Parts: sequence; C-alpha cells; structure tokens
Amino acid sequence: MIRDHFRVMVVNLTEEKGKIVTFDGRDTEIGGSGLAALLFNTYGKADNPWDDPEQPVIFAIGPLTGYFPLMSKTVCAFKSPYHNQYTESHAGGRSAYALRFADLDALVIIGKASTPSCISVGSQHLEVKKTDFMWGMNLTESGKLLRTMFPGTGHRSILRIGTAGEIGSAMSCINADTYRHFGRMGGGAAMGCKNLKAIAILGDAEFAAPQGKEYSTLFKNVHQQMTSTDMMKKYHNLGTPANLGSLNKIKSLPWRNLQATSDQAIEGVTGEKFADETLLRNGACSGCPVGCIHIGFVREKFMKDNRYLYRQVAYDYEPIFAAGTMLGVTNSFEVLSIMDEMEKTGLDIMSAGVALAWAAEATEKGIISDKQTIVPLSFGDAKAFEKAASYLGTGANDFYRLLGQGTLKAAAEYGGEDFACVLGQEMAGYATGEVYFAAQSLSFRHSHLDCGGYAYDQKHAEQDVEKAVDFLIDDERARTIMTSMVSCLFARGIYKDDLLAECLQSVGYTNLAANLDTASYHIQQLRWKTRFACGYDINSVTLPKRFYKIKTWKGPIDPDYLHALKKRYAERITQIAGQKCR
Ligand code: SF4
Repeated sequence: MIRDHFRVMVVNLTEEKGKIVTFDGRDTEIGGSGLAALLFNTYGKADNPWDDPEQPVIFAIGPLTGYFPLMSKTVCAFKSPYHNQYTESHAGGRSAYALRFADLDALVIIGKASTPSCISVGSQHLEVKKTDFMWGMNLTESGKLLRTMFPGTGHRSILRIGTAGEIGSAMSCINADTYRHFGRMGGGAAMGCKNLKAIAILGDAEFAAPQGKEYSTLFKNVHQQMTSTDMMKKYHNLGTPANLGSLNKIKSLPWRNLQATSDQAIEGVTGEKFADETLLRNGACSGCPVGCIHIGFVREKFMKDNRYLYRQVAYDYEPIFAAGTMLGVTNSFEVLSIMDEMEKTGLDIMSAGVALAWAAEATEKGIISDKQTIVPLSFGDAKAFEKAASYLGTGANDFYRLLGQGTLKAAAEYGGEDFACVLGQEMAGYATGEVYFAAQSLSFRHSHLDCGGYAYDQKHAEQDVEKAVDFLIDDERARTIMTSMVSCLFARGIYKDDLLAECLQSVGYTNLAANLDTASYHIQQLRWKTRFACGYDINSVTLPKRFYKIKTWKGPIDPDYLHALKKRYAERITQIAGQKCR
C-alpha cells in the first residue's frame, strides 16, 4: 500500500538500537537521490570529517520500486573519503526490492560498532552480530559465510565490504549481492569506519500489487516497451561492452593511461570477444526483465594434475576499460583476472584501474619504481597488475595506501600530476572530448552518469558553450528525477515524464504525478546545496595536462573551448546551489 510519507529505519550502531522514523516529503523529495539528500540534511554533519562516527550512511529507494520494471536501483549517500563532501553512489542487485519488501523507504546507519560487526534489518527487525573473525576476509570468503548466516533468496540482499573498505581506501566500494556495486567515491570506507562489514536486508513483510485493470494494463505496456526496444536488446545481448569497439573506432577509448584513444589491439577485448570466450550467463537486478549483467569466469589452478577452480566475475564496459585498455591488457581472461583481484578486496574497479595506469606510466618515466609498487609495473603485464590490485586493495605499503586515497594525492607526493587521469575522481572510459571532460570534472558525483556529456560530444562537433552547458544542466535535472525514482538509467529513453506520471498515478501517487517538474528543480538544487555546504570549491577543480593533449574524432582538444565550458558550467552549478559566483 502506498503512503504519502517515508518510512525510514535509523540504526545507531553505537547503541545497537534501531527505530522507525517517518518523514514528510514524498511530493517534493520523491525518494532515492531526493530522499537521501533530505536524510543527510537531517542526520549528516556538513562540517565534520567523513569518518566522524555520527556521519550517516544512507540507502534510499523510490516510490515505484516493486511496482514497475527497472525501478531497481538503490541510492547510497554518505560523506566521501575521496573529498570529504556529500556524495551518492548507486547500485542495482536486490537491495531495492529487499527494502521494499521490508516496508522501508530508506535505511540510515549512524554511530560506530564497538567491534567489527554485521547487521540484519527487516520491517520490524534489527540484529547486530559481532563478526571480528570476518575482518580482513576477502569478499569471496565473506560472501559464503554471510549467505549462510542470513539465509534467503529473492527478497534478501547482502551488502558487504572488503579489506579496501576496512583500511579506509577512497577507492573502496560496497559490494551489492556479488555482481553489482556502490562503486565510486569510497562507500566501502564509509561503512568500514563504522566497523560495519556487512548489511543483510531481509524483505520479510508483505507487498501487495495494486488491484484493478488500470495498473495491470499499464504494467504490461511498460514491460513490453522495456523488452522490445533495440537498445534493451543490445544491453541483454552483448551488454555495455558493445561500446568498446565503437568508442575505439571513433578515437574515444582511453588506452595506456590515455596515451592513445584508439588501438588495433581492441580485437582482444571487444564485447563480442568477451561473449564468445568468457561469458557464462546473464543476470538481472530484481524487477528487471532486461538482464544486462554479463557474468564471465576466471580459472585458477589450485593443485597440479589439472585441478582447477573457477570464479564468476561480472563484466561491463567500464571495468573492461579500467582493467583492460587503460592498462594495455588485451586478453579477455587476463582482464577478468585483474577485475577478480579488485573484486576480492572490494575495490572500485574503475578507480583502481585508472590509478594503476598512472602508476605504470610513473614507473615508465622513472618517477616511482618497485620500491613503491613492490612488483614492477608495465603496460600489458597482466600478472603484475593482478598483484598490484591486491596490494592496492589491502594497503600493502605507504605508497598503495596513499594511492588508494586518490591518484592526485599520490602524484602530489611523487610527481606525475600532468598525466594523472583524474576528472574530479579517476576518469570513466570516455575520451570523447571537451564537453565530457568539463562534465565529469565538475559534476555532482564526478560520474559519467551525472549527465550525458560523453553522448553530447559524439554528436556535436560545433563549439557552442551556452548550448553545451544548457544541455549538461538540463540533462542532470532529468537524471535527478530518474535517480530519485531509482530507475535504471538504461530506461531513461522509455520513462519520460509523461509515462512516469502515468505510473505514479496508477498506484496512487496523484500529487507527485502532478508535481514532477517542480520536484526536479527542487532536488537538483537540494543536492548541490548539500554538496556546497560540505565545502565544495568548484573553482579549485583543475584538469591535468593529459586531457589537453589528446586527439578525439574531432581532432586535438581545444584548450580554449574546454576552459570556457568549465568556467560557464561552474557558474551555472554555483547559481543552482544559491552561491555567489567568483
Ligand atoms: S538493465 Fe541491467 S543494470 Fe539496469 S536494472 Fe536491468 S539488470 Fe540492472
């Protein structure tokens, strides 16, 4: 049954107690991104450091989760160890549906457990289990144990961290149900600093679908659209790795720490290659008929006489770019093996791969050596990168612990800022041009998903600063609605405002259906205000020289255009946040 308020479980780990708190705001904050910002403004401490035990870690879902397909994401919000400011990270898997079936719109965790612990939560349930024995375990081992400790299937979700989160790495992720991740901005460390190894969400309550023909007819219509478009077929078939070949072709795929944007060696790591050689099966987030998750395998010889075990590794475009082309590794199984090492320690693969690419170039240039990296690094040496991934994820020495705080932090100590591929955080796999570089470097989560700058670059060779910045701002606002609904962004071409309003109407959210446009402006502003309140100095963001030196399909990067875009985009964001422009 729908309700016009939010039902939130607040867990205090210090006191080992939880309570249910209700919040107004359905028609203004919606859920997901909007609800997370509302809750951070209630429980967060803008002036205190990210690892203050009182800082909240927030998980929020949307009003249509459980009612319509692909409303499958959970928004995790926290103060990031990467920049000590408010941020979000999003993941699929089962957590959104588990929260829905636990009759919760959000889970807020504050305080710090006295000793490493796991919690389980349900609709009226909270248990804190002391699990010191699990601290230091890799994600493969802890996953097996956690599934035994918290049995269940479809309505149970397990969120866990690895050693990277335990040591406070700003590149640590929160693993969601093994194959999905709250990847970027160090969510793993936000849990780790609370001594929180894992969260089991038990969807232990009833959830009734709306009665009546209007809803069921609309559901069938939406389901049909989700499964019949060419775009969705692409996501199910090759998945996002289909983009490797196409981005390489248009000189927009970063290779070897962005020393090139295209390479003939692409043949080893195309979407087709991964599907032909490594694909075991597809998976799907709960409530999704598309099933874009591609799961491949790596083999490991554990005894002589041909005794092997294998592990399953989910792959996508971004991890293949980061553990593959960015490192000059062009064998699909080798790429999966590097990803597997990163997965085991709970590293965000995108950030870790880009950081190790910088380390490889710094080694080539003689800035660092194996005194720092323990194993000598060079592009294409997959075995070395496997080891380095493990060192990075466990903080094996001072160098790896510093690198885990961000490539630019390591570069400030050792040198090599010029070729650090950092756009607010380690770059995503789009060397598409000036608009994307400005977009990721300044945007809310420093994510390629904040707005479609990479897509804009691919369609617009002309240089029109106002037009490009208008696009970034408007597209961000449109995506804010999607992430407040917690829709998978792959559905953004289908869930337009009219259809969203119809869906909301059909389950009873009449006011919200009429208020989507106003809500989108409000949430966009709320998120930016929250980030600025935590100290975001947008004018201090600089772009390393590497980004000015590459060639894309449009030709060499134009530094004047990039500079103008960055300046104007910063002004517009500053205005939205209600700050004075400098
Ligand atoms: S399309 Fe993929 S990422 Fe999106 S909800 Fe479905 S399985 Fe999850």
